[in-house]
Amino acid sequence: MKLKELDQTYIAGTYARFPLTLIKGEGACVTDDAGKTYIDLTGGIAVNTFGFADAIWAEAIAKQAQTLQHTSNLFYTEPCILLAQQLCERSGMKKVFFSNSGAEANECLIKTARKYAAQKNGASSILTLENSFHGRTLATLAATGQEKKHKDFQPLPEGFVYAKAGDLAGVEQQLQTGTIAAILIELVQGEGGVNPLSQEFVSGLAALAKQYDVLLCDDEVQIGNGRSGSLYAYMEYGIVPDIVSTAKGLGGGLPIGATLFGEKTADVLQAGDHGSTFGGNPVACAGALSILSRLTPEFLAEVREKSSFLFAALEAAPGIKNLTGLGLMLGFETEKPVDEVIAQCREQGVLLLKAKTKVRLLPPLNIPQTLLAQAVETIKAAAK
Ligand SMILES: *Cc1c(COP(=O)(O)O)cnc(C)c1O
Repeated sequence: MKLKELDQTYIAGTYARFPLTLIKGEGACVTDDAGKTYIDLTGGIAVNTFGFADAIWAEAIAKQAQTLQHTSNLFYTEPCILLAQQLCERSGMKKVFFSNSGAEANECLIKTARKYAAQKNGASSILTLENSFHGRTLATLAATGQEKKHKDFQPLPEGFVYAKAGDLAGVEQQLQTGTIAAILIELVQGEGGVNPLSQEFVSGLAALAKQYDVLLCDDEVQIGNGRSGSLYAYMEYGIVPDIVSTAKGLGGGLPIGATLFGEKTADVLQAGDHGSTFGGNPVACAGALSILSRLTPEFLAEVREKSSFLFAALEAAPGIKNLTGLGLMLGFETEKPVDEVIAQCREQGVLLLKAKTKVRLLPPLNIPQTLLAQAVETIKAAAK
């Protein structure tokens, strides 16, 4: 109780927290201050790729912290260079800029798209989708296609326009104005309610981007780094974006953001154009390198199997409807109020998230099948 009061007294009230104080975790399980243990299907909002206190990750960051924790970007250091090499070799992208969060990865993406277009034809607008989420900084908030979130923070930076997901004709109409520098999408809208874009729409966007010679940019802050069942979700859709932003799961629990540049955009940013004091931090990068090295093809096949299991188990379950998602990012509506189902599951020892009108599942990617099956039974019982 004391901690909760202190939180309310001293911490800005930006978060509607669950009534739980967590004190320790191991893998897909986490324990609260009353000693109760839960199966965690929240993954720290898609951050804890290998669950809580993963031994391999913890050792990688501890070793780096004991060796060289920070230098500034005025020096070469090994972890960020090796991480960039791994990211490029495995994604097919060409260069990387490191930051500390998803919003920062998107800021860098937006700056790069603007500079690329400025040098080409002076177009500057970024086209995003309604119901998207790209971050909380002013520019990424402007990129976020949700008017409700804009309301109290005017004026927002200019140069963002919106289209409806699925509406290719609407997108084309905007492209015809000649003012669009880039299209920015989440292949699965996460905060917006776990809505995957259709293959047809995404293929259509890729074709339009090519036809109108605008950049196609892909926000994989939430779905990236193995969660889709491929290393990056664009691989699932068979497209090659010009810029990819990612963060959350890449760090496995430490802050990191990465903006990946393709062929066209690799050399847009030059000395002095952008920077970040903590970007490429050796400890965060050593952790990310350890995470990435374990996202092997065999491991990703297991992610896809667990995904199939979840879809099959939840699809026909009484009280559950509109099941959507990709890989280990799933959402569904319930006949009972969603908050009630989430609260009941919590009482029964399973932690779930919400996204808009849906229950959202973002389990650690290495969650054991037995725990996943146990959690599914709890969900089904609560939703019935
Ligand atoms: C979480 C999220 C962001 C913002 O990331 P932060 O690390 O909170 O700044 C941006 N885009 C998407 C798709 C996200 O899910």
